[in-house]
This record gives sequence, structure tokens and C-alpha cells, in this order.
Amino acid sequence: MKRRKFIKNLGIGAAAAATGLATRVAPARAQKKYNWKMVTTWPPHLPALGEGADLFAQWVSEMSNGRLNVTVYGGGELVPPLGVFDAVTQGTVEMGHSAAYYWVGKTPACQFFCAVPFGLNAQGMNAWILNGGGMKLWEEVYAPFNVKPLLGGNSGVQAGGWFNKEIKTIDDYKGLKMRIPGLGGKVVAKAGGNAVLVAGGEIFTNLDRGVIDATEWVGPYHDLKMGFYKAAKYYYWPGWHEPGTCIEITVGKKAWDSLPKDLQAIVEAAAYKSNIWMLGEFEAKNNAALQVLINKHKVSIKQFPPSVLKVLKSYAKEVIEEIVSKDPMSKKVYEAFLKFQNDVGEWAKYTEEQYQTFKYL
Ligand code: CA
Repeated sequence: MKRRKFIKNLGIGAAAAATGLATRVAPARAQKKYNWKMVTTWPPHLPALGEGADLFAQWVSEMSNGRLNVTVYGGGELVPPLGVFDAVTQGTVEMGHSAAYYWVGKTPACQFFCAVPFGLNAQGMNAWILNGGGMKLWEEVYAPFNVKPLLGGNSGVQAGGWFNKEIKTIDDYKGLKMRIPGLGGKVVAKAGGNAVLVAGGEIFTNLDRGVIDATEWVGPYHDLKMGFYKAAKYYYWPGWHEPGTCIEITVGKKAWDSLPKDLQAIVEAAAYKSNIWMLGEFEAKNNAALQVLINKHKVSIKQFPPSVLKVLKSYAKEVIEEIVSKDPMSKKVYEAFLKFQNDVGEWAKYTEEQYQTFKYL
């Protein structure tokens, strides 16, 4: 008995000693503070998008008790709005907040992690990337650039965009100079339009001065704040080109690897929180803004004719086939995307599609 008690006490003593050792070592590490910079594509503090970046930084700071501080810079404050990916790749800054389709010039496969015309909606994109194997592929696509991607937000189904002439047939796209990024832009080009990429802060001026004929941006909540109703007559729906656009949070590999595991987990948790916050923010505020556009600003709301959407959809397939035929990584990603889309599409026949016919109270 005595011997067992002695051993037991010894055990407790050893454990206490170990704990003591641990508590002596841990604070030294816990006190290390990380001060990071996050550059964004958005005008500073832009509602929902810039705000999402600001909130992410706030949540990281709160969750880490100030051990990881992220300073957010609006587009152009530190690097140009579309220079975010380069800055993170080069390690000039630790983090970026943007949208993957802007990096098509680096790697065409990036577009599938942002917005696919006539593709998955927000629910589907979240399911594919977070639960259906998409993230592993996204990490693979960004690995050569030493960038780690995280999902940081979603716009939901976007609006079709702002036009000064009506779109009645597919021929109305001929010669149309439209600000529209990603795969959607390639579809517009296939329809005979001229797709251009202009960062958010410059769109209004370009539209107002006639440098571009049309633009898409996000949806009513945002588009109202951007003032597009002052420069265009018609507001079209639906946003066939961006049915559930993902906003990305990127981390440079060197910066990521330098973080202890608990801070890495905090960054991931704050990104998850940002992702769901942003989708909710757009969903909660879009209709009120739409009503202001209709009733106060007398904007003419138009639907793309189904015959036009049908042609655009066939062009979207052609555009994607051309990309995957030239780029093996895009092929690998798109095949996974398509398989997942078919899977959730099958399930949706019994759920979402049925529900559309008898919603709401
Ligand atoms: Ca858009």
C-alpha cells in the first residue's frame, strides 16, 4: 500500500512538475504578438465586402486576445485593388481579401472557386468547397503561388447588371462594352460584347462618362450605395453570371507557417464566421435596397428574356470547355465541380426545386 501510495504521489508530483514546466514555457510563446497586414480589392470599409474584411480582423483580434492583429487596407491604400494576390504571393503583406476570379491571368482554375455562370449557388459553393473536397483542390491551385485560400464570404445570387439599352435578343450584346469579370465576362465576349475588368472604386465614373456601356457589380444593397442608378436606366436580373460568388481570404504560406496552431485555428474560425456573416448581410438587406431603387429612384427593373439566357448558358458551356481543354488543372477542378453539381442537383430535385413551387407562408 505504502509503496503504491508513494508511486501515486510521485505521479502527481511529476504531473505537477510537468504542468509547472508547461506554465513556465507557455506564456513566453503566448505573449508573442503578430502584426499582419491585409490588403483588399474593395474601397475602404465598403459595406459588406470591406466591412467583412474589417470584421474578420476584429474577430481575429478578439479571439486571440490581441495576439494576432490584422490591419486592413482598402484597395489602393497599400497596393492596387487588383494587386492583392501578387502582394500576398510575394509576401509583401500577410493576407488578402478579394475574389478568386480576378487571378485568371495567374491560373485559370481559380475561377471555379469564385463564380461559375449557371453553376452552384451560395449553398452549393459552401458545400463543395468546405464539405465536398473543393478546398483541397483550391489549396492545390494556389500552392505554386505560396498562398493559402480560405472562404471569407458570399454574395448570394447577384443582380444581372446595369444597362443603358434593353437586352431583348442575344444580338444586343454585340459591341456592348461591359464591366464584368470572370467566366461571365468571357460569355459576354462570346456573345459579341467587349468585357472589361474595372475595380469597384472606378466603375461608377467609367459608367457615368460612357467609358463602359454597362456594368454588373453585386446586388441591390451594394449597387444602391455605388450609385449606379444615376448612370444607367435599366437594372437587369438574374445574375446568371454569378449565382453564388465566393469572397476569398488569402494567407501567404510563410506567414501561415509562422503561426502557432491555435492562432491558425482562430484565423480559420474567423473566416468561417465572415463567410456566413456576409451571405446573411446581403440576404437581409437586398430587398429594402431594391425597393428604394424602384420606388425612390424610379429604376426600370428588367428580366433577361429566357431566350437570351438559353443562349448565354450554351456559351458558358463552350467557354468552360475551351478553358479546360487548354489547362489540365482547370480540367481537374471543373470535373470535380461538375460531379458535385450533378450530385447536389439530383438531391435538389427532391428538396430545393420542390420547395420553390410551394414556398412561402
Ligand atoms: Ca459581380
